[in-house]
Amino acid sequence: MIVSGNISKVRKVIKEAKRRNKLVGFVPTMGALHAGHMSLVKRAKKECSFVVVSIFLNPTQFGPGQDLRRYPKCFAKDTHLLRRAGIDLLFYPRQEAMYQRNHSVYVQEDSLSKGLCGKFRPGHFRGVCTVVGKLFNIVEPDIAYFGQKDYQQALILKRLVRDLNFSLKIKILPIIREKDKLALSSRNSYLSPGERTDALSLYSSLREAKSLIKKGERNPRKIINEMKRIILSKKGVKIEYIKIVDAQNLKELDKIRAPVLIALAVYIGKTRLIDNVIINVKG
Ligand code: AMP
Repeated sequence: MIVSGNISKVRKVIKEAKRRNKLVGFVPTMGALHAGHMSLVKRAKKECSFVVVSIFLNPTQFGPGQDLRRYPKCFAKDTHLLRRAGIDLLFYPRQEAMYQRNHSVYVQEDSLSKGLCGKFRPGHFRGVCTVVGKLFNIVEPDIAYFGQKDYQQALILKRLVRDLNFSLKIKILPIIREKDKLALSSRNSYLSPGERTDALSLYSSLREAKSLIKKGERNPRKIINEMKRIILSKKGVKIEYIKIVDAQNLKELDKIRAPVLIALAVYIGKTRLIDNVIINVKG
């Protein structure tokens, strides 16, 4: 495994791989890797002959007062996991290599970014689109892998690829969960044992929503109220949003129609967690 933070070197290594007709798979991450990240790496390894992972804690996607400074960093463990997974190249750039001091160009998506997390994290998706656009230009992958865990992000990045004519395919892979169904997240490490238990209410509420839809409920408001009841039964939690939207355009629905995305963001103490399910509704 080559480890480099040098953009010219990384370009050169990838150019050489392409000259040897390798299919380049790419998994961008912010590090603190867990089984969710590794599921993307495994799929990339299965489908591609040259796998690149990036670890870059991107400052432009964090707003003031968000958790950039305390975001977990475990480079030694991450490198070990990636080496064991057999990836070819780990791109680990320094902040100054990615952003010149007077950088002034950003990439902004103007439709899908408006709702859900975008409403509560102004500038977040602009930071994501900018950094991922830059990473795509550096790595020039054939396939890039993202998790459904950040479904809005993945959909926005698909739009970025389409609208800015990047020559690659984006694949969105399922959410990896703990045994008790908590979605894996680097931020779970912030949770105290009590908060960790309270966090299970996120998936319980999504499971209840799924079950209500299966039983024929088509009124989003009723489903959301039931989800709120489940989550707010825990003390010390604050719901940022619970939304039921069209899974393709992220527009809010007044009646459940397939396929729907049920997405939520909830503060467990000071930790903001997100989760979602996509439901294919019949009839
Ligand atoms: P991050 O390091 O949080 O930027 O995540 C890097 C990639 O891993 C993104 O595409 C995430 O959607 C994906 N990811 C994070 N958590 C999970 C999970 N529990 N299951 C599947 N993919 C995940």
